[in-house]
Amino acid sequence: MRGAKQIAANLYQIPAGGACAFLVVEDRITVIDAGRRGSGPRILEYLRSLGRSPEEISYIISTHYHLDHIGGIAHLQNVSGGRVAVHQSEVPFVQGQKPLPGPFQNPLLAFLMAPFVRLSRPPRFSVDLCLQDGDMFEPLGGMEVVHTPGHTPGSISLYSSSEGLLIAGDALEFRRGRLQLPSRLFTADMAQAKESVRRLAGLDFEVLCLSHYPPLLKNASQALRRFSESLN
Ligand SMILES: [Zn+2]
Ligand SMILES: [Zn+2]
Repeated sequence: MRGAKQIAANLYQIPAGGACAFLVVEDRITVIDAGRRGSGPRILEYLRSLGRSPEEISYIISTHYHLDHIGGIAHLQNVSGGRVAVHQSEVPFVQGQKPLPGPFQNPLLAFLMAPFVRLSRPPRFSVDLCLQDGDMFEPLGGMEVVHTPGHTPGSISLYSSSEGLLIAGDALEFRRGRLQLPSRLFTADMAQAKESVRRLAGLDFEVLCLSHYPPLLKNASQALRRFSESLN
């Protein structure tokens, strides 16, 4: 998608090299995902264009450890002092204690893309908050962590029931005018990904935000329920 978009009064979606970043702009600021390596300054530039400053960032949350989602986190952490939050199962990979798995699942593709993956390797960062299913953040009237594994083992979605809003990261795609499962090219466990979609379909929301697509702004949970029911 091209260009930044205001999704709700306090929520912005910003292209950040591959995946989008989301900014929750309230008294304090929350950044959800930070794009590819080198995207940090661009996210902060956008924040400044809203008349806000990096010092106002409280949280930097990762939806999952793919390189197009966490590449700018180290920069944001250094500049802002915001607390970095990652699902507990992905902590050793983003901190560098274990090698970060590349996004490509097919061994041949992984081999061919290895030079690109090396160049795009996200700078390491330290995690301040290890997330689990059910954890709550204050922004968006209470934003719940929903563990939605499959795309990666520690993929999370963020759900605000009071704002009717779900940020599902890469747990879903929206191609050819319809919701779809995440691509098997980049998804570690398709059966688990399907289960996670079923779980998200049990939530109630109006707006669905995805990392690589424009948001669904109306009746999104109905669309997701229909899609979930079509899965076998
Ligand atoms: Zn992605
Ligand atoms: Zn991904």
